[in-house]
Amino acid sequence: MDSPHIMTTYGRYPLTLVRGDGAKVYDDQGREYLDFVAGIAVNTLGHNHPDLIGAITEQAQTMLHCSNLYHIPQQQQLATRLCQLSGLDRAFFCNSGAEANEAAIKLTRKFFFDQPSTRHTIITANQSFHGRLLATIAATGQEKVKVGFSPLPTGFIHVPLNDLDALSAAIDPSTAAILLEPLQGEGGVNLAHPDYLRGVRRLCDQQGLLLILDEIQTGIGRTGSMFAFEQAGICPDMLTLAKGLGGGVPIGALLATERVAASFTPGSHGSTFGGNPLSCAAANCVLEVIERDDLLTNVQQRSTQLITALQQLAMRGKGMVVRGQGLLLGLDCGQSVAEIITTCRQRGLLLLPAGPNVLRLLPPLTITRQEIDQAVEILTAVLKEYHWI
Ligand SMILES: *Cc1c(COP(=O)(O)O)cnc(C)c1O
Repeated sequence: MDSPHIMTTYGRYPLTLVRGDGAKVYDDQGREYLDFVAGIAVNTLGHNHPDLIGAITEQAQTMLHCSNLYHIPQQQQLATRLCQLSGLDRAFFCNSGAEANEAAIKLTRKFFFDQPSTRHTIITANQSFHGRLLATIAATGQEKVKVGFSPLPTGFIHVPLNDLDALSAAIDPSTAAILLEPLQGEGGVNLAHPDYLRGVRRLCDQQGLLLILDEIQTGIGRTGSMFAFEQAGICPDMLTLAKGLGGGVPIGALLATERVAASFTPGSHGSTFGGNPLSCAAANCVLEVIERDDLLTNVQQRSTQLITALQQLAMRGKGMVVRGQGLLLGLDCGQSVAEIITTCRQRGLLLLPAGPNVLRLLPPLTITRQEIDQAVEILTAVLKEYHWI
């Protein structure tokens, strides 16, 4: 099934998905699967959502692309919406998560350069994931993404998550910003505790540092609030978004306060495709549907249902732990989950790992009670088969 003409950057599952409908996807043999991967937290509204198809179709019939040398109404509308929702003031649009973080890193450096100040170092957490570009692998707190790619941009250091003393001790006169995922996705579904986030906010305020939150996986309703940071009662200086924002159409965004955003001036950063009418029309539609259909309430209710079910499984097993928020949940099994994922796929349930030992569940925000029941039934049967419960 592998093409000899595609670079092997991915170890692919032996499966070709050709069609989707809501939380269900179909392979080239016509087999149906419950999609608890959702393109890795991308298909916010599930597959083939009629409103999203309508918004994209209408925009494609009007104008697909327009340079950022001109005003783009769909982009202005999206920026206004995202600022109203987040409490931040200005948006920069790009095409992916890594690009959004790259923009945040550049804006951090430019902000302190403008002070003027020599502060430039960004502190991130161990096990973090911030993308695959050179600066973002340097920012990522996992050695495996960096091997073979030296020399990397300098100016990044890593500390253990949820240890405020360690963070405090790592701050020195070169420190510019702290970059965190409120809930680490790729790194194993690890929550940054609300108390920790409030402490980090306080440290940043006391020492004049910027707090950057990477909500590329957690943003746009995934954790049960529009942004995960709301649950800690704080607000960052910068926020990065991507994955779920376009519901499947590529788009990334960096949001910042007016004070910080002022350091980007004409010529200091850019993107040819960033914030094009098509991707902004898609993102505007995603935000409208989340609000109109009260999907945050659905996320909260389905999350409670799924957490309860997973905790019952964990109680029956040995050393199993449930983690996460909303519909970004992890079942840490304490041993390799690769075979469980394969067998679940054969039984019609798509799941992801988060590190070697954690099953990650990321259904669309539109998932129904029945679909959660169905997924839990399949997972339960498979775990029983392996005598894990
Ligand atoms: C996926 C992800 C990224 C990278 O996004 P890309 O669109 O793949 O570049 C960065 N940060 C977090 C937290 C992510 O989950």
